[in-house]
Amino acid sequence: MALGLPSVLPGSQPSIGDLIRKTGPTFSFEFFPPKTADGERLLWQAIRELEPLRPSFVSITYGAGGSTRDTTVAVTERIATETTLLPMAHLTAVNHSVAELRNVIGRLAAAGVRNVLAVRGDPPGNPMGEWVRHPEGVLYAEDLVRLVKQAGDFSIGVAAFPYKHPRSPDVASDTGYFVRKCRAGADFAITQMFFDADDYLRLRDRVAAAGCDTPIVAGVMPVTRMATIERSEQLSGAPFPAALAARFERVADDPEAVRRLGIEQCSEMCRRLIDEGVPGIHFITLNRSTATREVWQNLDVGARV
Ligand SMILES: Cc1cc2nc3c(=O)[nH]c(=O)nc-3n(C[C@H](O)[C@H](O)[C@H](O)COP(=O)(O)OP(=O)(O)OC[C@H]3O[C@@H](n4cnc5c(N)ncnc54)[C@H](O)[C@@H]3O)c2cc1C
Repeated sequence: MALGLPSVLPGSQPSIGDLIRKTGPTFSFEFFPPKTADGERLLWQAIRELEPLRPSFVSITYGAGGSTRDTTVAVTERIATETTLLPMAHLTAVNHSVAELRNVIGRLAAAGVRNVLAVRGDPPGNPMGEWVRHPEGVLYAEDLVRLVKQAGDFSIGVAAFPYKHPRSPDVASDTGYFVRKCRAGADFAITQMFFDADDYLRLRDRVAAAGCDTPIVAGVMPVTRMATIERSEQLSGAPFPAALAARFERVADDPEAVRRLGIEQCSEMCRRLIDEGVPGIHFITLNRSTATREVWQNLDVGARV
């Protein structure tokens, strides 16, 4: 066995890469690990409310700066053992030595978790601050993909950026590095959130033009408050599309109308993505279930899966 990991290797759970390629479009939900008892209650309420929708899989993020190692593993493990959902753990390289990363991968394997989203992570505090490699760690997501791949039969996802990663000098080099991490062993990718289907389609076209057929799942989050629009650049890497912002501005004084428009706009965008053959849609839930359920109903996903 590779890397001296525990004797339990993943295998019993379906591979998300296979699900996407064979049964797509997949529909999936993203949660974050809670920091407080109240947060934990909200998370489990959302999980229980979303479970009956029978998503293809759910994912649990890894806190900024590697801060939630234990909670991410614990929540992923609990989802695997106490629910009918297929969980995927996010794993980041920031602030971890290779030995620590192997330890986390081993714990996930021991819990029977077979699916991992390998991302580099941002520096704690300022996401655009200097990225300092742990002296015994890895430098890029590409290296993390290799590490997980060597550790066993994992299905590995990576991050994709419709507006290019903010650190990339240009779209061409961003595409080149994305293709490298796919070739290092990624089975699929999930995008940063975006608000215009054309931005996703442009990313898909340039990756295909570079000769890479790794399926790229669309990461989406409905706008439910004007604050999401104001934080768009931080959340998505680009300013909110101007024409769409104007639609929201017209109802900005009415929080319920903003919410309704957000659900409608996200549903419209998802319909277009499905028509364009998207391999999957990944909903960022922020540990709440209502908005996701409303978009889900508009898309009539129950009839599709
Ligand atoms: C779907 C999704 C889920 C995420 N989940 C989390 C999470 O759970 N926790 C968290 O902390 N963060 C998460 N992130 C954020 C992510 O960690 C950051 O955006 C991070 O800055 C980039 O991660 P990456 O895996 O794309 O890095 P990389 O692929 O390593 O890229 C980082 C930068 O380096 C460049 N680059 C890559 N390879 C090379 C190379 N060989 N030579 C030179 N330059 C190179 C890239 O073009 C890019 O500019 C997520 C992002 C997405 C899209």
